[in-house]
Amino acid sequence: MTNPSLLILPGDGIGPEVMAEVRKIIDWYGTKRDMVFDVSEGLVGGCSYDAHGTPLTDETMEKAQEVDAVLLGAVGGPKYDDLDFSVKPERGLLRLRKEMDLYANLRPAQCFDALADFSSLKKDVVAGLDIMIVRELTSGIYFGEPRGIFEEGNERVGINTQRYTESEIERVARSAFELARKRGNKVCSMEKANVMESGILWRAVVSEVHEKEYPDVELSHMYADAGAMQLCRWPKQFDVIVTDNLFGDLLSDAAAMLTGSLGMLPSASLGAPMANGRPKALYEPVHGSAPDIAGQGKANPIACVLSFAMALRYSFDKGDEADRLEAAVEKVLADGVRTADLLGEEGVTPVSTSEMGDAIVAAL
Ligand code: ATP
Ligand code: MG
Repeated sequence: MTNPSLLILPGDGIGPEVMAEVRKIIDWYGTKRDMVFDVSEGLVGGCSYDAHGTPLTDETMEKAQEVDAVLLGAVGGPKYDDLDFSVKPERGLLRLRKEMDLYANLRPAQCFDALADFSSLKKDVVAGLDIMIVRELTSGIYFGEPRGIFEEGNERVGINTQRYTESEIERVARSAFELARKRGNKVCSMEKANVMESGILWRAVVSEVHEKEYPDVELSHMYADAGAMQLCRWPKQFDVIVTDNLFGDLLSDAAAMLTGSLGMLPSASLGAPMANGRPKALYEPVHGSAPDIAGQGKANPIACVLSFAMALRYSFDKGDEADRLEAAVEKVLADGVRTADLLGEEGVTPVSTSEMGDAIVAAL
């Protein structure tokens, strides 16, 4: 059997700093758990532009298509602000998403007990929270035609079109049901079927996929506005939420804030199943390149570490090892180890990026 393959793209700013800590964890799995990954590394973003004049080379793009999973740090930085749009660092990431056709964006909202005080909500509302928002990422109102600002009579009119095909809804619904089977086995689908045609189709298609292929998973439907309210009121009622591009944009940002710091939040973008039955996948922290703290050893590596945990769970079928890694993070936080972004209390000295990584490895 060949080893599972992983392409690592550290990128710019704090990307390489947080990725160095993930490398320590990957090494730990290799030596202590006999899980050896076939790891290759490449350039994306500004660093790729500096080396090759493009934010993503064809060679790296091909590699991304071949591997079991891609793990990305962050791209961009002030150094590249004046570059032409076609070679901006972010274009590298967009090309990856587009050519890998990553249509399901996964944003977990997970609250570690030790950080429950950090949330803007009451502690019992968020403690132990572990939900997943699946947002459709490649269609819907951000892409539908017609779009534009037009003259109509003697005034202008701004138009966007919400458009979903049956197959677009089907595939993202499947992503959500597959995930639910690896989690709490529960999906809540959110749309506005009361006022939108696309919402009526969304609800019908999700129900059909459920009935035919995933009857073992519990399915409920909610109007997205009511869903937003429930998400703030009692988020623990949910396991997986599946929703369209626009509602998912809003709901996933709101859910993120249930849990606290940007330095804690992982994400995944999934595409169609490959020959091995697992989806094409790109994992990355939600945060950006954080130019204000880059190069200072202050970055919190946990978002990137948890992104790797998602890869273990969803690309490598190692849910138990993902649990182990998340438990190690939980232990380190419970022990009071904090990078600067997690500090509210006085009298606690922050640890460096590398010390946080070492603490997680020790906890493993
Ligand atoms: P992008 O446009 O790429 O999303 P951004 O400038 O909007 O980038 P970030 O780069 O994520 O956002 O930074 C936002 C703020 O959060 C910055 O002050 C940054 O220092 C902080 N931050 C982001 N990630 C981390 C991290 N891993 N650890 C500590 N602080 C972080
Ligand atoms: Mg940003």
